[in-house]
Amino acid sequence: MGRVRIGTPLSPSSARVLLLGAGELGKEVVIALQRFGVETIAVDRYADAPAMQVAHRGRVIDMTDPAAVRAVVEAERPDLVVPEIEAIATDALLGIEADGLATVIPTARATSLTMNREGIRRLAAEELGLATSPYRFAGSAEELAAGAAEVGFPCVVKPVISSSGKGQSLVHSAEEVAAAWEYAATGSRVDAGRVIVEGFVDFDYEITQLTVRAVGASGEVETFFCEPIGHRQVDGDYVESWQPQAMSEAALTGAREAAERITSALGGCGVFGVELFVRGDKVIFSEVSPRPHDTGLVTLATQRQSEFELHARAILGLPVDTSQRRPGASAVIYGGTPAVGIAFEGVAAALAVPESDLRLFGKPESFARRRMGVAVAGGDTTDEARVRAAEAASRIRPVEA
Ligand code: AMP
Repeated sequence: MGRVRIGTPLSPSSARVLLLGAGELGKEVVIALQRFGVETIAVDRYADAPAMQVAHRGRVIDMTDPAAVRAVVEAERPDLVVPEIEAIATDALLGIEADGLATVIPTARATSLTMNREGIRRLAAEELGLATSPYRFAGSAEELAAGAAEVGFPCVVKPVISSSGKGQSLVHSAEEVAAAWEYAATGSRVDAGRVIVEGFVDFDYEITQLTVRAVGASGEVETFFCEPIGHRQVDGDYVESWQPQAMSEAALTGAREAAERITSALGGCGVFGVELFVRGDKVIFSEVSPRPHDTGLVTLATQRQSEFELHARAILGLPVDTSQRRPGASAVIYGGTPAVGIAFEGVAAALAVPESDLRLFGKPESFARRRMGVAVAGGDTTDEARVRAAEAASRIRPVEA
């Protein structure tokens, strides 16, 4: 993994980074890259996506179409291709990497394994032996019924290709299985016709262990850990996060061991969001994103370098610093209403909350449960920061313009 030579954007010497996915996380990564004078191209399936608004150029393509992904990389000739979402044609990325067209972050294999819950679960549980919930995969309602009976009730059903709780349901009994199968079919971004059914884990709390693989002082790729992030999910979607999450020494050690093993098995450089359930001192692996994580938006308020700055540095081959400055929290701002070109009231009131800050993502269209912004806040403790972030978020009122 070499260091990317930085030149002058929009000139022959420029270092070019192409993001596949141009949402709010990509927007912050682009801002971090822009500060280093990197030329950025943001790609998504719709125009004016958040990261396109801050990148040098935007491109609208169907990212699940391998030919379209290949064509945009051939046209733009980036040094790095940075997947920002899961649902992309990862086969095209394997070809791009194999042909030496660009470096895929963190690696093409990592993006392909993590895009599908089956690939990453089998790697974690069956190859690495990490503790996970009991699970089965199913390709039909009948297989799902059998799998659910085997893992036991309650269980959680999820499309193998999905995120943010889409198509995910909690199933309490055999009678609910058919509805869960139907619901999963509507929530999958790329219809793979397959689901995972997992035993419900009655955890004490869940964390994201942000883990960075970056060139260290040794000149080799080393593993760096951020302080653990606690978070609360509603219907499989994150609504609130805080850092640091208090953990026992044993649980923290277990979390970092699991994070080290899964991220080194995936390889490459960059930020990984390792999602873990914790019960007592026991750590149960859930999943991993080979990219900044939504719950990590809190690092905008807490760390010397946010997860986005860490990602930018790590992928460019530059040194990282994962240290924390201050306890903090984040709270999500939803659109609340379906409308195009909404406005935000209460911004000044939100920013009057001590140590608070806001990110309004600029998404062209709002839906009731679409994440349109986030409030972050610092505090002496995470409890204080959580109150502040929630208060700031609640003062924002998305309205039809
Ligand atoms: P995921 O999309 O797999 O990250 O799931 C989203 C959220 O649903 C997780 O962060 C948990 O809060 C909850 N969840 C998912 N799987 C399980 C499980 N097996 N047991 C308990 N809660 C789960």
